Amino acid sequence: MISKGGSEALLQTLVDTARSASPDSDILLPLFRLLAKVGLRDKKFGQKALESEALDVTLILARKNLSHSQNLLHCLWALRVFASSVTTGAMLGINGAMELLFKVISPYTRKHTRTIRAATEVLAALLKSKSNCRRAVNRGYVTSLLRLHQDWHSHDVTNTYVLIRHGLLLCLRHIVTLRSGREAFLAAQGMETLFSIAQTCLENKSVEPVISAVIQILRQCYPESPLPLVTARSAYTFPAPGSSSSGPPQGLAEEDFEDDGDEEMDKDSDAEAVKEDDDLETDMSKLSPNPGFDLPEEELARYAVMCPELSYNFEELESKYGDDLNIKATPFANHHHIPSVASLRQQCFNKEHSSWGQESEDTDHISILHLVKGGKSSIRPSSKQRPLMNENQSIQQNGFGIDSSGHDASDDSQASLEQAAWDIEAISCPTITASFSNFTMSEEGNEAAEKLLHTHPRNTPFHDPHLYMANAMRTRSAVGFKMMALPDLWGHCPPTTAQPMLDRKLGVQRIKILEDVRRLLQPSDVINKVVFSLDEPWLLQGPASSCLRFQSKFESGNLRKAIQVREFEYDLLVNADVNSSQHQQWFYFKVSGMRSAVLYRFNIINCEKPNSQFNYGMQPTLYSVKEALLGRPAWIRTGSEICYYRNRYRRNAAAMDGASGKHYYTLTFAVTFPHNDDACYLAYHYPYTYSTLMTHLEILERNIDPRQVYFRQDVLCQTLGGNPCPLVTITAFPESNSAEHLEQFRCRPYQVITARVHPGESNASWVMKGTLEFLVSNDPVAKLLRENFVFKIIPMLNPDGVINGNHRCSLSGEDLNRQWLIPQAHLQPTIYHTKGLLHYLSSIGKGPVVFCDFHGHSQKKNVFLYGCSMKETLWQAGCTVGGSALLEDVSYRMLPKILDKLAPAFTMNSCSFLVEKSRASTARVVVWRELGVSRSYTMESSYCGCNQGPYQGLQFGTRDLEEMGAMFCLGLLILELKSARCSHKLLARATALLNADALDHYLQRKAKRMDIRRRRKQETT
Ligand SMILES: [Zn+2]
Repeated sequence: MISKGGSEALLQTLVDTARSASPDSDILLPLFRLLAKVGLRDKKFGQKALESEALDVTLILARKNLSHSQNLLHCLWALRVFASSVTTGAMLGINGAMELLFKVISPYTRKHTRTIRAATEVLAALLKSKSNCRRAVNRGYVTSLLRLHQDWHSHDVTNTYVLIRHGLLLCLRHIVTLRSGREAFLAAQGMETLFSIAQTCLENKSVEPVISAVIQILRQCYPESPLPLVTARSAYTFPAPGSSSSGPPQGLAEEDFEDDGDEEMDKDSDAEAVKEDDDLETDMSKLSPNPGFDLPEEELARYAVMCPELSYNFEELESKYGDDLNIKATPFANHHHIPSVASLRQQCFNKEHSSWGQESEDTDHISILHLVKGGKSSIRPSSKQRPLMNENQSIQQNGFGIDSSGHDASDDSQASLEQAAWDIEAISCPTITASFSNFTMSEEGNEAAEKLLHTHPRNTPFHDPHLYMANAMRTRSAVGFKMMALPDLWGHCPPTTAQPMLDRKLGVQRIKILEDVRRLLQPSDVINKVVFSLDEPWLLQGPASSCLRFQSKFESGNLRKAIQVREFEYDLLVNADVNSSQHQQWFYFKVSGMRSAVLYRFNIINCEKPNSQFNYGMQPTLYSVKEALLGRPAWIRTGSEICYYRNRYRRNAAAMDGASGKHYYTLTFAVTFPHNDDACYLAYHYPYTYSTLMTHLEILERNIDPRQVYFRQDVLCQTLGGNPCPLVTITAFPESNSAEHLEQFRCRPYQVITARVHPGESNASWVMKGTLEFLVSNDPVAKLLRENFVFKIIPMLNPDGVINGNHRCSLSGEDLNRQWLIPQAHLQPTIYHTKGLLHYLSSIGKGPVVFCDFHGHSQKKNVFLYGCSMKETLWQAGCTVGGSALLEDVSYRMLPKILDKLAPAFTMNSCSFLVEKSRASTARVVVWRELGVSRSYTMESSYCGCNQGPYQGLQFGTRDLEEMGAMFCLGLLILELKSARCSHKLLARATALLNADALDHYLQRKAKRMDIRRRRKQETT
């Protein structure tokens, strides 16, 4: 009907009928009903009404029928659809429609409420037009609307007219999108009025639309302000070569917060839709392989030094590792039994449940194969059935290992704890007078640490505090950190039970927003005292102070400022990345001076990402020093009433470059600390520092069985900050130095794995830890892998970023994973040399089978891969697929498919193989395109946990991440078994191993096929 001119015909009938001498309501009323229906479907209805002069006649009819409710109601229905076009709405406004509506919308009454409701709806529709909003402000309608709403609210005790109340609020909501509207609203005490309304009905589900609108208006009208910081730029600067960002700090001036008067309506945090398809690369020349060997021969030669395994002749192989083996025993682990991830888990389990039986000798023979999805044994299911805890038992909920009676320690250990806590303060509070030279830890700190280690000896697997201390002292930070965080020094031993995701309490965000509004309206209990600030170091809190004490000047620490807002509530600001004014997301800081059994609230108010897994079950991590000294040194997930939402702090232009939004976001969470006067550390995710990595590598190297494992640590390059970036080579020695064995050794394909280019993604380091430990373990799978591959691993591509507490960038303020196209040796040395090494390997025919860069993902759950496919990209972008794209095989899908079957945390569903323009300079895309590695991946691990598979509903612990690292290696083996080049010898050995575990029936089938093929071949020859 619309396409055949029905709207026009109806409108014309309306005009003709209305203009007749005595309009017939028997025609008009059905006509209006019809118009209201058709108008909903006709996008140009408003325009058509304008052109046919139906607007005027309807307004005239409405005026004439002000006292005739039924006729008026019909006119309003028509006006409502006319006003769906903003232009038509503006025209109605000019013709006095709003004045007319205000005659209809009366204070509370029980008469003609349908008409009143329709009038509020028409008014709300009209106020979508800015000019109508301006008119409304000028005529004082803001005050009228507020009064009307309050009147209806106070009289409508049975909540019968929620829709009228909502309609009035909707009008206000439109008006306050204008600055003048907000000013009028504030002047009319709108904040106070709506705040008290929200307080009275927050819990009432039947007035949900009202509360929702009230909250939106309050958020919109809360006066914006700059962050309470002297500058958005990082508190730390580094004179990076060619860095232009060392100018004078830019203050946050008031004019940076100019109102654009046209702000979008309040969206919920997760409504930020990105047009992803626009970002797909469709330029064939940028999707096709581009093998550019731009490195000269002599440049490539330097990488030969990093691959000595290729030229080594192993002459001394027999003598060196012959009978008179003399390997230095170390106290950390038995080198014959570097445990696999599986056995570690088993051991831990046995230890904590000694009643289950003696720790059996052969636990370390449990292979990773037992942990694959649907494998025979897994510890996890039992932990999943953990009884749900009472919410009031917040300490238990926090996961501390405290018994149910609530007693955590005997008097003895309490006394020793008090002494120890003092020592801890000494470790982490350097004397201010200490020399400011770059790399010395304070002497007292070290002595205190030594003393502590003496009185509380620890034996965390793959960790050694003494070694850590030595490494930490060598580590160079941009500002010269002088203290160590105890969790990094002491080590982390993951708890045996998994932590479920936090159920989000309904309405927690609203309560938080109202709390923020309360600061403005009822400031009597607001303290607003700066208690910690990197910019004002003289603000040191004495131990006598009743407020919490904060500290962050240690590796990966990044708290910049803490403001005590109320007695037990603190606003926190984290530092921007060095030489940058953005990327605040990661946090890691120490807090002390707390009381137990008190709920403290922390608000990190300068986060940048528009949404976070903190809204979907994720909790931050906490490490209690007293718990550690009691023998439970663990990072655990903690916090309640967690939510993440857009706040009133506005970003200034300087902080906006490349950023996605205009506002900052608040992460808020409440914590109950387990002990009085403890020192606790809070972090975004389980920290893993550069010094931890260096310690870990050293321990691995010391403890491997050199007859089994070829393990070599080289320095890839020095970072800008002067720290060595390690390159690890893992393989097996040749069986002997016979020509045949040497040949096998030199023919081994390469695998290249990198991680932690983004410093805030500490989950990537835990996955890498699992990979490294597995590869040197005596797991039979690891043995096969070593004997058949050479692994080149760069476990931390951005050491400086990790050390200095950055979230995203290097010391020059650049995202290193956007520098792979043309890396510069003097600007991005680690990227330049990683790419150089890959070019070298490629130039000698050793381009890696798989390249994978480990990352962390802040928005999604599970673990998944991003790969590259020309065909899928063109397909998704709606381009015709032809030419070389048609020839692309789908081998890039094999590894993720295998991992989907093996790894409990992994899911194929989140994998993507699209090549985005914005990712053209990432490791994944450049290694795929320039080095021709078809299996070039980014592996993303959620910060949160899993929503599928055996770990569904659980948050990740470090053990799960490490397990993923080991599973990735198993995936590489199975990938090789499926490849055409796989040797019969490897296939036979692997099949025997895998058959024994009934791992993968499709593998067996493949082996059988190969077997049949081989027999046939033998028969024919
Ligand atoms: Zn990343």
